[in-house]
Amino acid sequence: MPANILIVEDEPAIAELVALHCKHSGFVPTVVHAVLDARDVVDESLPDLIILDWMLPDKPGVDFARELRRDERTRDLPILMLTARAAEDDKIQGLEIGADDYVTKPFSPKELVARIKALLRRSAPELSDATLEVSGLTLDPTSHRVTGLGTELKVGPTEFRLLRFLMARPERVMTRQALLDGVWGDHVFIEERTVDVHVRRLRVALEPSRHDRLIETVRGGGYRMRKSAVSSPG
Ligand code: CA
Repeated sequence: MPANILIVEDEPAIAELVALHCKHSGFVPTVVHAVLDARDVVDESLPDLIILDWMLPDKPGVDFARELRRDERTRDLPILMLTARAAEDDKIQGLEIGADDYVTKPFSPKELVARIKALLRRSAPELSDATLEVSGLTLDPTSHRVTGLGTELKVGPTEFRLLRFLMARPERVMTRQALLDGVWGDHVFIEERTVDVHVRRLRVALEPSRHDRLIETVRGGGYRMRKSAVSSPG
């Protein structure tokens, strides 16, 4: 699962350079040159991270960052501000409105990539290829194997992605919308109850080792991966 990175930068040479280094690092970059286009991309499919220039032709990047932070759907989207402004005040303003990190032009591509990776590690651990383990349930992204207490479990491709997303965020309540964005990536064409269908299938797949009990339905909220199974009555 390579990370999708949205680059919002109006200077073509810089946009190209950033996109190139993203590609070389195994990310999938999308380049737009204005906030309006960035809004379209985000509305259609949530990227894993946004690299956002400060000075853009239609409106300041910070205004867009502020909008993203106000919206529940995009609140947790990692934002890396890119700017020519070196002034300390701007840096503080950028971080105050909710940017996660800040890189000043001219920047070293190596440093930029390192910052991107650090942000992704924090926000989307399922994008790394590390094996996930929760309470005897193991998911290996490289071999696409899921085992429960050492026994291999048959999990379909969508359920695999769903499980990976949940296991990377144990104990956190994930709304159906968050699951659609994180697992399906394109929320526009899929109904929320689709999530319920796949959660049901996933639970069936995890039943042999009784790890289905780790996936908790949160009333009015969504789903949560428990770190340890609640003992079932009877
Ligand atoms: Ca600019």
